Amino acid sequence: MDKIALTNVRVFDGRGLLEPATVVIDGDRIGTDPAGAATFDGDGRVLLPGLIDCHIHLADEATLAALARQGVTTALDMGTEPPALVASLRNQRGVTDVRSSGASATHPASMHAKRMGRTAGLVADPDEAKAYVAQRVAEGVDYIKIIVDPPGFDEPTVQALVEAAHAHGLRTIAHAATRDAVLLAQASGVDVLTHAPLDRPLEDGAVQRTRTSGQVVVPTLTMMEAIVERIGAIAPVSYDVARASVGQWHQAGVTILAGTDANQAPTAPASPPYGTSLHHELRLLVDAGLSPLDALRSATVLAAQYWGLADRGVISPGKRADLVLIDGDPLADISAVSKIAAVWCAGQPVAGAPNQAEEAR
Ligand SMILES: [Zn+2]
Repeated sequence: MDKIALTNVRVFDGRGLLEPATVVIDGDRIGTDPAGAATFDGDGRVLLPGLIDCHIHLADEATLAALARQGVTTALDMGTEPPALVASLRNQRGVTDVRSSGASATHPASMHAKRMGRTAGLVADPDEAKAYVAQRVAEGVDYIKIIVDPPGFDEPTVQALVEAAHAHGLRTIAHAATRDAVLLAQASGVDVLTHAPLDRPLEDGAVQRTRTSGQVVVPTLTMMEAIVERIGAIAPVSYDVARASVGQWHQAGVTILAGTDANQAPTAPASPPYGTSLHHELRLLVDAGLSPLDALRSATVLAAQYWGLADRGVISPGKRADLVLIDGDPLADISAVSKIAAVWCAGQPVAGAPNQAEEAR
């Protein structure tokens, strides 16, 4: 594989921007020795570790290419079926690397099951919870996603899902877009909350419990905003409630991870676009109270650490060469993240990302 020396780049090291230096891409990894490498002049631009979107839904191969072009080099799928589709999109070269929950656990009486016409992943009681998790484990999923929004699941059933997942060493993620869903997810011991309440603000107790229980949150403000834009006039939902919850969680010291809910499902309440939606999410996280540094960390080093992706999230020798070169200083203005100059996925230049072919020499 090729060796490329990215010269004159300012590396984001998870804390700030370093002085201009050279970063070596050696095969699919970050190397140390520029000898014999082709040179790519970074021209003083900022080099970020590949971005991680902690909540997407896979559609097809084009999903991976679209994410990669926008610098999202890792994406965590939070509900896609059938298993053969997910399997076909794993371990693809030169595009985004994915993890997946497979079909999410859904109660037959839930709005989700009805609206989405779901037949896979239905779980009615604690006994079915065990069977559901066993089936996902057999498919090779990376974590267990549970649609917790009421009506539907009771606490014993969600608890059974969590216990079965933990027995297999898998984390659990609760789709929780209402205040009551957050409380049910907390009472049941779910590890990750995704979305943010759209109906009612969280009480201080719930916010503090998120921190003390070690729960992390993937708020998908992009999706919350899109839902309110679509149905805000006819339903009791408020983006301000979601935004305020994220601010409260952040102030309480809860780990916030970046995710978008990007999807192409015709039955979804809204469909944020792949890739660009993560740039938007970072802007919304800053708007909700995170510093640009916190927002960048939520899509890089913190996401990699939380999900056990030890080979990425930072730029250092031996890590995957997942890299994004951007124009501008994202710590001064988070919008700079969308000014993509070049992207590499595991050392491979991403087709369709700007500048790539022209500048490599
Ligand atoms: Zn989702």
